[in-house]
Amino acid sequence: MARYTGPVCRLCRREGMKLFLKGDRCYTDQCAINKRNYAPGQHGQSRKKVTEYGMQLREKQKVRRFYGISESQMVKYFIMADKMRGITGENLLKILELRLDNVVYRMGFASSRAEARQLVTHGHFLVNGSKVDIPSVILSVGDVVEIKERTRGSEKIKSLVENHNGNTVKWINVDIDQLKGSIVAEPTREDIDIPVEEHLIVELYSK
Ligand code: SF4
Repeated sequence: MARYTGPVCRLCRREGMKLFLKGDRCYTDQCAINKRNYAPGQHGQSRKKVTEYGMQLREKQKVRRFYGISESQMVKYFIMADKMRGITGENLLKILELRLDNVVYRMGFASSRAEARQLVTHGHFLVNGSKVDIPSVILSVGDVVEIKERTRGSEKIKSLVENHNGNTVKWINVDIDQLKGSIVAEPTREDIDIPVEEHLIVELYSK
């Protein structure tokens, strides 16, 4: 299934929560969740009984939309997570967190995951010294991500650096002066701030 390219605020309204898909706008009063916190469409405000399947589906869709991934990618990650040691749901979130586009976003080098994906696709980042333009690459502990030398003078990057507040997640170390960051540990469930019940996704895919 192709990636969704329609209005992203509808996705937040569908899930009934902020998914932070629009960068800075998500932190303003312009956020659609602040203005119309009900599902989009003609029946958006009507009450519906949610079935068990419906709950599982919503949790899965929430995660897909948060990370901006397709259904086929999600299935692929689930299979990977299922083969790993530990709790499958947590493994799934860990894999998603370690995607290159998410890491760039977590490092503060993009204001949203969508922007991070675009910057990566346009070849603005090096991973361990080599150019990588595939946002879905899964990184590991010790990997170093840096902004390419030629890109550093661009207005976009300058503004990102100026607005960088130095805050990142604890499993990533960022050196803002050097415009690089490294993964110092694998993210744990406590590190992943997504309000999702991942066990429902496991139940859905295990049927
Ligand atoms: Fe979601 Fe951001 Fe749109 Fe708010 S502004 S509805 S958080 S994408």
